[in-house]
Amino acid sequence: MTPPARRAALRELLRAAELDALLVTDLVNVRYLSGFTGSNAALLVHAEDSADAEDRSRLCTDGRYVAQSAAQVPDLPLLIERACAQALVEAAGTDGVRRLGFESGHLTVDGHAALADLTAKKRDGVRLCRAPGLVQRLRAVKDEAEIEVIRAACAIADAAFAELVGTGALRPGRTERQVAAELDARMREHGAHGPAFDTIVAAGAHSAIPHHQPTDVELASCDLVKMDFGALHGGYHSDMTRTVVLGHPADWQRELYELVATAQRAGRHALHVGVEVADVDSAARTVITEGGRGEEFSHGLGHGVGLEIHEAPALAATGVGTLSSGMTVTVEPGVYLAGRGGVRIEDTLVVRPGAAELLTLTGKELLGL
Ligand code: ZN
Ligand code: ZN
Repeated sequence: MTPPARRAALRELLRAAELDALLVTDLVNVRYLSGFTGSNAALLVHAEDSADAEDRSRLCTDGRYVAQSAAQVPDLPLLIERACAQALVEAAGTDGVRRLGFESGHLTVDGHAALADLTAKKRDGVRLCRAPGLVQRLRAVKDEAEIEVIRAACAIADAAFAELVGTGALRPGRTERQVAAELDARMREHGAHGPAFDTIVAAGAHSAIPHHQPTDVELASCDLVKMDFGALHGGYHSDMTRTVVLGHPADWQRELYELVATAQRAGRHALHVGVEVADVDSAARTVITEGGRGEEFSHGLGHGVGLEIHEAPALAATGVGTLSSGMTVTVEPGVYLAGRGGVRIEDTLVVRPGAAELLTLTGKELLGL
């Protein structure tokens, strides 16, 4: 979908919410709806279903981005002001907007206070209305062009990991930080803008810490090594976790791995259009609970991936809503035995009619290196 088509889809949500317009302050949403990638901007999208809705909508950014905004957003009127949200609230008031939605999950308390002061001073009838998550709801469903970019981001991570394993970089004596730096460098060599998030390399007992930060601890023989990483490419993220053993896996390591792998398969197979997200979590969690490790699976099953590394939908026991075709999500169960080691296996997949499409193609058999 082009930015104008995304704005048209948003208008339908705005009308359903009985809003005259939406003030978009989350820069990721600004990018999604307009194509603009600068560091200061806001967007006003009018709700009415008419030909001039686009002419009345506008992007605001500051003087540093005059040329960039004109090039990236040729199809919307541009406003150049440093205080973008304020400028757009004023413009909305002048243009007869009454119910103005704002991104209440994003705007700070101070930011909201400044806008409320402005509308009180102007007395132009603008009412600020909480409107959380509207653009996020649209972003959760990817079109084929977006999926293609995410597929490429996943392929970069796959290629980097294959090289890491193939060149023997995972061996006793190397530190967690060295391995993480090498993964990042290899992803860049394959075209990534950078890592999608701080790469996790967790060896031995550290592998039992779900979001461990790499240290100068050396990988040792018989260690479980858990690596969680992804590529940022074309603005989109990939996300994958693999856990390997340095040497011949011990029985407890093999059992732990098999349990998590079985749960991960159950989670992947539960990804169907129309399924409640909580039921996907439960499909994988049940396997681990029945294996006696329910307490040690201490996080949700997965999350949406796109312009942000974590976005809607949340695949968790507390998640609400159902899966739609085109949602791109992770499935990442883990079991963490404090002081001993942990296993997590994570893929990025696209929900499709029928079976979900796997985007992270690195194998999931237990690697003994
Ligand atoms: Zn991950
Ligand atoms: Zn993840």
